[in-house]
Parts: sequence; structure tokens; C-alpha cells
Amino acid sequence: MQKPVLFDTSRVQARAAQHKLQPFKVKQIFFELFKNQNISYEEMTTLSKDLRAELEQDFAPLSIEMEEMIEASDTTKFAFKTHDGYIIEAILMYHRQDEKYQVSGQKRKLNRITLCISSQVGCSMNCLFCVTGKLGLTRNLTRDEMISQILYANHYIKKRFGKKEDWTTWAVRNVVFMGMGEPLLNYDAVIKSIEVMLAQDKLSLGRRHVTISTCGIVAGIQKLIDDKVDVKLAVSLHAPNQTLRNQIMPIAKAFPLDMLMKTIDSYVKATDNRIFYEYIMIKGITDTPELAKELVELLRGRLAHVNLIPYNPHPSIDFLESESATIWKFKSILERGGITATVRDTMGRDAKGACGQLGYEKVMG
Ligand code: SF4
Repeated sequence: MQKPVLFDTSRVQARAAQHKLQPFKVKQIFFELFKNQNISYEEMTTLSKDLRAELEQDFAPLSIEMEEMIEASDTTKFAFKTHDGYIIEAILMYHRQDEKYQVSGQKRKLNRITLCISSQVGCSMNCLFCVTGKLGLTRNLTRDEMISQILYANHYIKKRFGKKEDWTTWAVRNVVFMGMGEPLLNYDAVIKSIEVMLAQDKLSLGRRHVTISTCGIVAGIQKLIDDKVDVKLAVSLHAPNQTLRNQIMPIAKAFPLDMLMKTIDSYVKATDNRIFYEYIMIKGITDTPELAKELVELLRGRLAHVNLIPYNPHPSIDFLESESATIWKFKSILERGGITATVRDTMGRDAKGACGQLGYEKVMG
């Protein structure tokens, strides 16, 4: 049977009470995992040897194992194995501050580290441009499997760069639910994982440093409003009208665009949060000037920012990436229309961890 994880507060506390462990020992355990970035008992040297041996019998530091890793200049892609043998993926992204930055050089200037995590094994949404969508859905991930991705990444950062005094820069400080899966279809576990991310004695991330990204699950957005979940929301829009959205995102038929936009408006009203709209740039499909103008009309007067995502070509998908000039023209039309926009850099391509490439080997295999 799978052991509970060492960051399961209620179980660790129950065990502490049973064994008359002082409360500060429990704090020390969490400190080792979350602040010292240690994920093996061997490394947790602030705990006594006896305590470590006892804990090891009952708890596992993480609930997933690292299966494979691909390191590239600006990213590291992890493939993790779950206890029941499934592969999930997470991508670390190192955001540079200036041109001198090099991961392996002496002059690296790290600004912040973001981790893109998976919330499901595969995905049932079947967006036409996405490799993960081709896998179908196997199962939801648990809270512990989501948190384990972050703890593993933090440990990796420490091993790769060394433990720094300014540890908050040298650890995951932004988490985005943009890996495999649709987070709002695994709502309860995602919300529980966010509680661990925000807790001061755990990952202590800021609310604005956690982003839920949805392809437009209206019922899930409504639940976020009802439950007053105040983190960043990104919406994978990818088309400014119902017809095109229907063509590239099957979920659009279940949650039509006007219904989606109305719910997003309610979310903005409830939280005063700006929405990040993800928009994929596919040659000749989503990238025309007419569509840019339509997007301006759709978002006019709304608290919005558009992320233009260059499509990552993949042999199993029959789409082409937009020309760079087309993307910049699209952006300028948005900006002339008063909509702020950025072009997402193509981080992760080297590691096959760029947006829409998760699950690569499986699809290729
Ligand atoms: S883009 Fe997101 S929601 Fe769509 S199939 Fe891929 S993982 Fe699922």
C-alpha cells in the first residue's frame, strides 16, 4: 500500500500526538521539505536520526518518482511516474533578466522560476492543436501528486544551482496549472493543492503567483466565484468567435463563447482580477488580421491581457506555426485596439516541453 506523504498535515500531526512529538518537531519536518528543499530523509539533518527512521516507516516524502528529465537552456522538463505507473510531466522555466543569462555559465541572472504542473494524467478535452489532448484522460491527479511536482522541482533547483541565501529566487515562486489536464475538471484536488501552495508554513506562494488555466469550463469558473478562490485565472480562448472555437476546441460546444464571457465577467466583478487570455497562433487558422480585430471587439472594455502563443509544430498534428511577422502584426492590431498583449517566448521547445507538447513521447511512441 502507498504510504501517506510527509506533508499531509493531519496525518503527521496525528502521528505526532500518538508519539508525543513536540509541535516544533512537526514544524521542523515541514521546514525541511518546503524551505530547505529536501526530499529524502538522508538530507533532513535538522531531524534526529531516530525520528527520521521512525518517519520513514510511515511516510514517503513525495508521492511520485522522477522517471526522466530533459535539460535545456531555458527549461527543464520532468517526466514523473505515479505510484500506479502513469507518466505525468512538469516544466521548469527560468526567466532571465538580461541577455547575459546562461544556465550553465557564470553570468547567469535569474529573475524568477516558474513551474508548469500537470493536474491530470492526459486530458479529455481534445483541443485539436494539443498533443496532450490526443492521450485522452486516464485519471485525475491527487493533491499530493501536484504538490510533489513542486517539491521535486525545488529540490532539483537546489541541486543544480546550490542552496542560496536568497532562497526564494532559487525556488519555484510561480506555479501555473498549464501542464497535462484541465484543472477545473479536477476541482477539489486542485483547490486543496492551492491551499498547500499558499500556506505560510508550506510553499508560501503569493496568490498572484498561482495561475489556474482553463479551456473554458464555465461550471468550474462559477465554482471559483462561489468559493471565493482568489488566484490568477488564465482562459485558453484561442479563437474570438464561436465558429472557429467549435472547430479547434470541442469543449466550445458545451460551453458557448457568450456563456463563457458572461461567466468570466462575473469572475472579474467578484475578484477584480485581470484575466489572461491564451491565444494560439496557428498559420492561416487563428492568425489573420480579421480575427485580431474580432478579438479586440470581444475584449473591448474587459479587464484583459492577451498572451499570443506561437504554435509548436508537431508531427502528429496537421497545423503550421504562424510567421513571426504575422504574430507581431496581430499583436499590434490588439494594441491599437487598446488590448495589452505579449508574445510568449518559445521556452521549452528544446526540452519538448513547450505549450501543447506535453505527452510528446507517448504520442510519438
Ligand atoms: S490544451 Fe489543455 S485543455 Fe486542451 S487538450 Fe491540451 S491539456 Fe487539455
